[in-house]
Amino acid sequence: MPQRNDASLVTPRDAYECTRLANLHPASWNNPKPAGPYELVIVGAGPAGLVAAETAAALGAKVALIERHLIGGTCLNTGCVPSKSIIRTSRLYAEMADATRYGAQIPDAIRVDFAATMERVRRIRTHLSGSESIRRLAAAGVDVFFGHARFVGVNALMVDDAKLSFKKALIATGARPHVPSIPGLKEAGFLTNEKIFDLTELPRRLLVIGGGPIGCELAQAFCRLGAQTTIVQDKPFFLPMEERDAAQILSDAFARDGIEVRLNTKALGVRVEAGQKLVDLISDDYRNTIAVDAILTGVGRAPNVEGLNLEAAGVDYEAGNGVRVDDFLRTSNPHIYAAGDICLEHQYGHTAAASARIVVRNALFRGRERWSALIIPWCTFTDPEIAHVGLYVREANRQGIPVKTFTIPMHDIDRAVADSEETGFVKIHVKEGTDRILGATIVARHAGDMINEITLAMVAGIGLRTLARVIHAYDTQAEAIVKAAHACNRMHPKPTTKRQQLKP
Ligand SMILES: Cc1cc2nc3c(=O)[nH]c(=O)nc-3n(C[C@H](O)[C@H](O)[C@H](O)COP(=O)(O)OP(=O)(O)OC[C@H]3O[C@@H](n4cnc5c(N)ncnc54)[C@H](O)[C@@H]3O)c2cc1C
Repeated sequence: MPQRNDASLVTPRDAYECTRLANLHPASWNNPKPAGPYELVIVGAGPAGLVAAETAAALGAKVALIERHLIGGTCLNTGCVPSKSIIRTSRLYAEMADATRYGAQIPDAIRVDFAATMERVRRIRTHLSGSESIRRLAAAGVDVFFGHARFVGVNALMVDDAKLSFKKALIATGARPHVPSIPGLKEAGFLTNEKIFDLTELPRRLLVIGGGPIGCELAQAFCRLGAQTTIVQDKPFFLPMEERDAAQILSDAFARDGIEVRLNTKALGVRVEAGQKLVDLISDDYRNTIAVDAILTGVGRAPNVEGLNLEAAGVDYEAGNGVRVDDFLRTSNPHIYAAGDICLEHQYGHTAAASARIVVRNALFRGRERWSALIIPWCTFTDPEIAHVGLYVREANRQGIPVKTFTIPMHDIDRAVADSEETGFVKIHVKEGTDRILGATIVARHAGDMINEITLAMVAGIGLRTLARVIHAYDTQAEAIVKAAHACNRMHPKPTTKRQQLKP
């Protein structure tokens, strides 16, 4: 575990990384003398911890925030921010490679500058680290402690030698990459999201193990940057959560990109020979071996429960599933709450932030806000993007809710055609016989942006027919949502609507 002021916290040590370190874990930092008891002590300064600290401090609470590594947590340092930055550059290269489709010519062969790509990632991450910096937290009145937090009772914890007592606490320690138990993997060496953004040289041949969101996003990005990429997934499809037609579109897109897709395939073992990693694979009964230069594992996340001494605090947890919480995000100790990846099924930056806001209201203001009342969208930022909100049809079926689905293919949308981005669809599910939106899946270049309109409608209780009355600027890809709404309107024309249409 990295210790305070450890120079290995960031690599490579260029000017960007030194600034990031100064923003997120300065060498000169001295922990304050604990005030006590705190109204809220927060363990972990990722999106959940940061949102809780800033919100609680802004409302006047005396808050302490403890971080053992870098402020910003996974999202800023090794997750959302660097992955979206590298995806943007990889998309640019993919578009340049496809220039003739857009009537453009690239005079010479495209040369990927991987070092410059990664420098841009570091520049963006450092720029954004300014808004999550220690200076900002201190200015907000938050007491920031660097070090490993460990509970020593139901109302107290230790950070190094300092004891902090609290009225309420929040565990927001997040998760780390789960490392699959493949014989020889550790000895051969492998990458996770914690190391891949430190690369300065592109691996010539990359094996990505895992076809969930992290594996899919990074496999496509590295392939588009020029790595000969193979992705193995032990299931018959990618993104197991998503609807099958959405996952199939992604498989097809990967094949077009030149990714070697191995579904129903497991990595059995890894060995190193003549400087290359040899990976034994099995697909059904077929065994073969591939040679690669780097292996990236993206097979899930393990909650950071170890070393917190949760037993001393009376907090129930499971090593694989994290801290157990009720619908109010309270743990088995009524003074201690949890938020973010440490306790949630849906592990995203926005769910971490949303859960932290609930905790502040419930813990400090006797709120009774329920996690289950939220409507949460998410997106996998591949090309095309795959976004979802609400119920899947299978879930509605399980709950006995009759479903009517309106599907608009993106090739029916003028802007998608104009952009040569016709792959995908907008699919909106309503309760049969009504226009109440149950859920939606969007597969499109900008699905992550488009899903927010459906989420807004669901949160505000706006039916799909009402969306037909919302004038959308022409020419946008979100017109697909309006078309779905018009299709719903045509199925259930209201008498008033018919009369209005007949008026001159
Ligand atoms: C490659 C990748 C891409 C992603 N892309 C997206 C995306 O596009 N959109 C999205 O919404 N989400 C994305 N995510 C998920 C997102 O990063 C996480 O869901 C989010 O960071 C969770 O926030 P958190 O606050 O719960 O935990 P974290 O961000 O993990 O923060 C937890 C913090 O707690 C600290 N900590 C742990 N134990 C202790 C201890 N005992 N004492 C003190 N400190 C401790 C850790 O050092 C860490 O800083 C991505 C994740 C990855 C890996």
